[in-house]
Amino acid sequence: MNKKIPVGILGATGMVGQQYVHLLEDHPWFEVAYVAASPQSAGHTYKDALKNGWQVHGDIPKNVGSMVVEDVASIEKAVKKCTLVFSAFEMPDKDAIRTYEEEYAKAGMPVFSNASAHRHTNDVPMLIPEINAHHLAIIPAQQKKRGWKKGFIVVKPNCSLQSYLAPIVALQHGGYEISDVLVTTLQAVSGAGYPGVASLDVIDNVIPFIPGEEEKTEVEPIKILGHIKGGTFANFKGINISAQCMRVPVSDGHMACVSVKFRRQRPTIEQVRSTWINFKSEPQELKLPFAPEQPIIYRDEPNRPQPKRDRDNGKGMAVTVGRLRPCSVFDYKFVALSHNTVRGAAGGGILNAELAYKKGYLQNV
Ligand code: NAP
Repeated sequence: MNKKIPVGILGATGMVGQQYVHLLEDHPWFEVAYVAASPQSAGHTYKDALKNGWQVHGDIPKNVGSMVVEDVASIEKAVKKCTLVFSAFEMPDKDAIRTYEEEYAKAGMPVFSNASAHRHTNDVPMLIPEINAHHLAIIPAQQKKRGWKKGFIVVKPNCSLQSYLAPIVALQHGGYEISDVLVTTLQAVSGAGYPGVASLDVIDNVIPFIPGEEEKTEVEPIKILGHIKGGTFANFKGINISAQCMRVPVSDGHMACVSVKFRRQRPTIEQVRSTWINFKSEPQELKLPFAPEQPIIYRDEPNRPQPKRDRDNGKGMAVTVGRLRPCSVFDYKFVALSHNTVRGAAGGGILNAELAYKKGYLQNV
């Protein structure tokens, strides 16, 4: 690649947007050329627009710190400065987010979104590249149906399911079909954006309710595991998932305590472990820059994974699993962990764009 692709970040001042700015510094294919946020931030330099300060590692990259933030609504300015956008802006009205993302796509921009607005739009792929890279194949049908020439929308799923779905799918791919899943997630406060949950609510506490999270955790996997039929997605019907989602006093890293039941053949513990350790998929084969070399890492110690010690594995892109043991109700239980603002948000969005680039979907933008 001679010249990097100029990219924009919508919602660049937020928790996820800042993670995008940080992770894209020195990216081999993409460079940040445009930042946008709410009308209140528009017109300020990026550095000055961060009303709650810089929340991620290191310093604000110099070239981005001095950029003038635009209003997400100024699509015509984005078109002049970048060729694709990462969408991580939040608005109370989901319809407004949906409409803006469609306007960007209509203006010729591929949109890689973290928002939930388009997750269940039936021609929009909801991607975890290690699991359903083939879902990108719906893009020509999406463009044709909507009359978009170059733009399209790809979304990533909720951060709550990033930890437990990959280990389950690895087993499915290994020939061990899973019929039932019970999952309890222990989710970090950064998952609620900044400032997120009030400290007096979450310190010394566990909050057993995150609005909408259990529904997303149960429903999104069935689209991800589904297939393309006649230009839309048909959901996968062969798995039952029951989820409980808790907010816990951890800064970053969503954990999931999982019990699984196999439909037919029950593998041995050693077979499960080796299936996970040997799991590789398209992002690894294509050597995408953000693909972790080992997407699922297994820790043998009885007290791992832990958010503090394991969330940064594979530069925050790997899922760390441990505590695999028999379950007295289902077949096996285990604990899984992933970094919610990296794999579960900005890193996942970047991997989606890398996959689209490598598979030729960004060639004419
Ligand atoms: P956040 O920290 O609250 O940031 C929200 C962003 O949206 C800010 O840049 C804000 O700009 C912008 N914004 C607010 N009102 C706007 C408006 N009227 N028009 C345009 N932009 C507006 O939220 P976040 O945690 O980064 O989450 C962003 C998105 O990613 C959400 O859809 C969320 O569900 C999703 N997500 C988050 C996580 C996570 O772990 N946090 C994980 C997966 C997905 P100002 O600074 O100018 O107000």
